Amino acid sequence: MSHLVLARKWRPRSFAEVVGQEHVVRALSNALTQGRLHHAYLFTGTRGVGKTTLARILAKCLNCATGLTATPCGVCPACQDIEAGRFVDLIEIDAASYTGVDNMREVLENAQYAPTIGRYKVYIIDEVHMLSKSAFNAMLKTLEEPPAHVVFVLATTDPQKVPVTVLSRCLQFNLKQLPAVRVAEHLKHVLNAEGVPFEPGALSLLARAAAGSMRDALSLTDQAIAYGGGRVAESETGTMLGVIDQAYLYPLLEALADNDGPRLMQEAARIDERGLSFDAALQDLASLLYQLSLAQTVPEAVSADTPERDRLFALARRLDGETVQLYYQIATLGRRDLEWAPDEFAGFSMTLLRMLAFTPEAKGESAEKRQLESGRQGARYNPATAVAAAAPVDSTPVADAAARQETSGGLDWIALTKRLTGGVKQLASHCTVLDQKPRLLRLRLPELQKPLLESFGDKLRATLRDRLGEDLRIEFEFGDTAGAAPAQVAAREQARRMADAEAAIEADPFVQTVLKQCDAKVTQIKPL
Ligand SMILES: [Zn+2]
Repeated sequence: MSHLVLARKWRPRSFAEVVGQEHVVRALSNALTQGRLHHAYLFTGTRGVGKTTLARILAKCLNCATGLTATPCGVCPACQDIEAGRFVDLIEIDAASYTGVDNMREVLENAQYAPTIGRYKVYIIDEVHMLSKSAFNAMLKTLEEPPAHVVFVLATTDPQKVPVTVLSRCLQFNLKQLPAVRVAEHLKHVLNAEGVPFEPGALSLLARAAAGSMRDALSLTDQAIAYGGGRVAESETGTMLGVIDQAYLYPLLEALADNDGPRLMQEAARIDERGLSFDAALQDLASLLYQLSLAQTVPEAVSADTPERDRLFALARRLDGETVQLYYQIATLGRRDLEWAPDEFAGFSMTLLRMLAFTPEAKGESAEKRQLESGRQGARYNPATAVAAAAPVDSTPVADAAARQETSGGLDWIALTKRLTGGVKQLASHCTVLDQKPRLLRLRLPELQKPLLESFGDKLRATLRDRLGEDLRIEFEFGDTAGAAPAQVAAREQARRMADAEAAIEADPFVQTVLKQCDAKVTQIKPL
């Protein structure tokens, strides 16, 4: 239990020990060494980024027995008393619990008197935005004509709520949240110094959970040491934090890479059974997709400590870069939409299904085998007969009258679209062929899909030239596709299967008997 003090023990005592916030430290150090002092400083930033820690270090700089300095000695009575929280000329006020004007007036009246033992009277006012209006007015009077021996250090998480009249009299510094990598690095340094054994993956988990606050990271590390009986292991830390171990998300992405819908839904159900937060799951999924994208584009940037590194790179080779980008976007949007979903599981599953819809058609034997197994071959186009420009019109399998029009000029647009992937496929599936000549292909799409065209138009042009001829000119125009675009054909096919399924249920004597005898209701029908 002697470890349960890391956050206090490793609290920075000097500017040199502060992790991150280099911009603030440099500005303050320069001001101190050049003797350019300000009467009021405002530190802003989210909780736990080190606002009051910096304020206390500044108090030492102002009062250290060695003189005004950016490197306080740490051993003189002033430094030690400030460290121990008993320096009479350092007045710390938590505005969250100290809002009355009388208190504030009393405090500020005392500001007029010279410091008792120090060089400066330092007022640290934490959560300063919580002060009442009259308290701010009392403070403003002092700020307008500050006694030479007074320094205010104001700290707030919400500078918007500090009156402009006060803001304008302060030198303002914005403290940043620390990137997880920096936090993990520092944790490593701390645990090595403390002689606590750890697994690097655990430090990444702790750093991410701390969301940019070193203080939170150290507190969590204390917890993890206690939880792990003196060591910080990855799996135990994950359990403690209630995070989904990323390994758990690999099956989802692997099912997507296999274009295997049933397995994808099984994995989603497994996450549901474990009672994990779907919001956290989507966040972790986005984070894993980011890692995948890194592995594909800048492999050297993937840290050696990354958990399941081999699995990550194996997956990175199976998915193309564009698909990973799309999945990332779908995951982050899915997280945003989660609160609007009928329920969290539906929102989560829908996000996965959207990814599945973007998944390139699986190629080769396994895809055909799956088609046979699912018995849906008749409803699908066989990719094997998919069409080159020269394919005769009447030999093309066509399931829809509207689709037949698309084969005019010999190009089976629907079959071709099926063989595309990612965003290019999405764009193509909203287009119809207006006209096809030997060196010209004119496509039409609804104006609504303009963003897709802007993102993937050039790529689709390149893909089509690749397949249909280098000298092909491709023109797009906006207009009504009259239900003939592949996406519309597919939607109709889906609706037809749904109607068939409903009709089959309706006509099933057994179902009807159950409904009557048990006073039951059909709540959901899914086509097989
Ligand atoms: Zn000192």
